[in-house]
Amino acid sequence: MSYLIEGETGDWEVVIGLEVHAQITSKAKLFSGAATEFGAEPNSQVSLVDAAMPGMLPVINELCIEQAVRTGLGLNAKINLHSVFERKNYFYPDLPQGYQISQFLEPIVGEGVVTLDMPEGPRDIGVERLHMEQDAGKSLHDQDPKCTYIDLNRSGVALMEIVSKPDLRSPAEAGEYVRKLRAIVRYLGTCDGNMEQGSLRCDANVSVRPVGETELRTRAEIKNINSVRFVMAAIEHEAERQIELYENGGEVVQETRLYDAIKNETRSMRSKEEAHDYRYFPDPDLLPIDLEQSFVDKIKASLPELPDATHQRFVDDLGLANDDAVTLVADKETADFFEAVASASEPKLAANWVLHELFAILNKDGLSIADSPVSSAALGKLVALIADDTISGRIAKDVFEVMVTDGGDPEQIVEDKGLKQITDTGEIEGMIDQLINDNPDQAQQYKDGNTKVAGWFVGQMMKASQGKANPQMVNDLLKKKLG
Ligand code: MN
Repeated sequence: MSYLIEGETGDWEVVIGLEVHAQITSKAKLFSGAATEFGAEPNSQVSLVDAAMPGMLPVINELCIEQAVRTGLGLNAKINLHSVFERKNYFYPDLPQGYQISQFLEPIVGEGVVTLDMPEGPRDIGVERLHMEQDAGKSLHDQDPKCTYIDLNRSGVALMEIVSKPDLRSPAEAGEYVRKLRAIVRYLGTCDGNMEQGSLRCDANVSVRPVGETELRTRAEIKNINSVRFVMAAIEHEAERQIELYENGGEVVQETRLYDAIKNETRSMRSKEEAHDYRYFPDPDLLPIDLEQSFVDKIKASLPELPDATHQRFVDDLGLANDDAVTLVADKETADFFEAVASASEPKLAANWVLHELFAILNKDGLSIADSPVSSAALGKLVALIADDTISGRIAKDVFEVMVTDGGDPEQIVEDKGLKQITDTGEIEGMIDQLINDNPDQAQQYKDGNTKVAGWFVGQMMKASQGKANPQMVNDLLKKKLG
């Protein structure tokens, strides 16, 4: 099932490593007390530290350390009790310090693993490291025809850079990796995962090689991709560009490229710096971070159930199909909603209703599950009414429609509209007798061997009972009476 790109000279394999920058959920920045709220007036959340005024000193935000450790544990990664902040020196107008405080040789989190739920089965992707660093400010090029403005609100915001190993082999795997990582940090509460607001951004390192070659070839890095769809499209285009280059006798150069979503292409931004160009050195204003094992253990003990564990529990304990479990755990709100529905009714039926009926109306109106017009409690009651045979699945769809448009309690709706299923054998038998009496020709056809006519009888029965006769009982009793 491997993903290969066919070229003129044969098949090519794509090798991808992702660097994800995830904004740490914290009200204050990494080294200052300034606020981090999204969408504030430009330069309204900038302390003297963030503006790099002379003599200002950074002070570490302990919550950010806790969040980084929590994320590391969520990635099944090694937590380094000793880690060091270093200065990564470069000039950029939106970086007033002239360097970014980051971690280099000794990051807070080492190797870990993210498991992808691919259609062909689970795939383990290695995590190389997770380190903490400051975000830079933002240059605004579209506010004035002549000037560029600088907004330093993001300057100093705490980021986790999560670096994968070059284990990804297709755009689909890369997309799934970002989705899974986003789900994990959201379950953990360490990053809101909001890609539109820039809380989660992705750089993709892409190289290609002929199938069978084991050495890694030169990679290009595509910067700052801000949606899962764009990650996949950018990788696909970059891979095709590189293959074409090689096949025409060219070479790929190590460089940073930009993905243009409108033109759907990647363009060169600058030649890629090597680590030594940044003149990293330990920040003399900050002590190394030395954690106690007990600090880590305490965080470990407070970890919530993560998507993989929830997935396993839905399959093992609730009997859900694997694919249904994968979809339900993809985001925590959906998993929680489903659990509330399931606890009030029957899990498999609850999964069907959430995944099909509820998702259909949410998708139709572009709503998230948090804005569902039907509460989990109400849907749970509805599913319970189907499970205990009070109403049929068919009638339940009508009740659900009323719940969506007018709201209301499903039991009350069933009561008010007289929709209770007819499960009384005598009553159903009476209706069947009547029907056979009124349609002797069709009854004879059945006796003569045309069993298809049974379907016609079922239809007539449902019509006569306004859909309320229990379909299973109708089927069974019809066969008995006609045969
Ligand atoms: Mn970075």
